[in-house]
Amino acid sequence: MAVPKRKTSPSRRNMRRSHHALTPASFQECSNCGELKLPHNLCTACGHYNGREIVSTEA
Ligand SMILES: [Zn+2]
Repeated sequence: MAVPKRKTSPSRRNMRRSHHALTPASFQECSNCGELKLPHNLCTACGHYNGREIVSTEA
């Protein structure tokens, strides 16, 4: 099995982790009801997507 020759230095380790930052989740306003929703996702409040109702939210 291939094994690292040297211990990874704190500097190398931190350089590797420089790409690990999380980005905050983005939200868009629903064009139908104005509720915040995830982009490219069905609105969870009114069930609309792309200007039409996909899922009925009436009980
Ligand atoms: Zn909506």
